[in-house]
Order: sequence, then structure tokens, then C-alpha cells
Amino acid sequence: MNGRAHALMGAITQAPVIALTGDIPTGIGLVLLATAAGLAPDLDHRGRTLPKKLLGPLGRPVSWLARAASSVAREATATGPDRSSWAWYQANRGIHPDHRALTHTTAAAIMAGVFTGVVALMLGWTPLAGLAVFMGWMSQVLSDGCTSMGVPLLWPLKVKGRRWYMVSFMRLRSGASSDWWVAWAWTGAFSALAVVLY
Ligand SMILES: [Zn+2]
Repeated sequence: MNGRAHALMGAITQAPVIALTGDIPTGIGLVLLATAAGLAPDLDHRGRTLPKKLLGPLGRPVSWLARAASSVAREATATGPDRSSWAWYQANRGIHPDHRALTHTTAAAIMAGVFTGVVALMLGWTPLAGLAVFMGWMSQVLSDGCTSMGVPLLWPLKVKGRRWYMVSFMRLRSGASSDWWVAWAWTGAFSALAVVLY
């Protein structure tokens, strides 16, 4: 999915939160955090452009770290069926297997959210920061799950004997205009929820 669609989807997750709290200054901070979290999972892109666009000179080392962590997690937790499917995956699709791995899981979203929440509390800021990061992060994981490639949504839980089972809700082709259909449907849903909660 393209970066702008991911940024929009991350940002809009905070509309219902702002509607509930009515706190605009805090809300702006939460929107920024959720936007960043909506883009963060794609730092595992091997191509230089995306990590560089997001983080500038830090993009390459952070991207390398994300892929290294994915690789370690994959090696440590892959089951037999995973290994044969990862081999299939690499050989048949020519896509590096560390993209859409560790960073594209619910577990990663929870870890990022808890970490941010704890840091926010230590800094005397709202723990809603953790929720914002979790929601933004999940917006990318779930929307990538709408493509035919899918995401390992439930790692490290086993699905059909595999921990790296690629969950795919829809078979949309990534990068097509269908990205925007998903993004606008998501935006509409969260905007409606915000109106209801306001
Ligand atoms: Zn992604």
C-alpha cells in the first residue's frame, strides 16, 4: 500500500478518541503519533526510498534493524510448514521475506503501543499515546491484510501449523487504486464513529 494512504488511515484512528476526550491540543499530538505509527511497519522495506523518506539518514540503519529483527524472529519461531512455505515464497515471488514479517503483526502493534504508553507516562503525558500508536500501527497491518500477499497477523499464534501464516481478508492488488478504496472506507468508518461519539 502507498505511504499517503497509510498515513491517512493512521491519522484518522484518533478522530473517535478526540471526539471522546474533547482535548484538541493532546489530540494533535495523538494524531501525529498515530500517523507515524501508521507508516512505521513499512520501515522493513528493502528499497531505499521508503525508509529514507520517513526517517532521512536514519532510514537505512532503522530499516536494517527492522529486517534483522524480523529475520531473527522468523528463524527462532518458524515451524516446519512455515519453512517450506517461506522457501516457496522467496523462490516464487522474488520478494524478500523480511518485508511484512515481524513489523506487520498484531504483536508488534501491542509492543509498540505498550512501549509508547510507558514512555508517555514516564514523561508525564497521557497514556492514550500508547493507544494511538497501537491503533495507527494496526491500521497498516489490517490494510495490508486486504492485499493478496496478506500479513502474518496472528504471529506467534499458530494457524494451520504455521506461526507465519499470511492472513489475507481480501485479494486486492497492492499499489493499485484499490489502496484508496480501502483507505477511504476506513476513513469513513472512523469519521462516522467520531460523529457518533461526539
Ligand atoms: Zn506494509
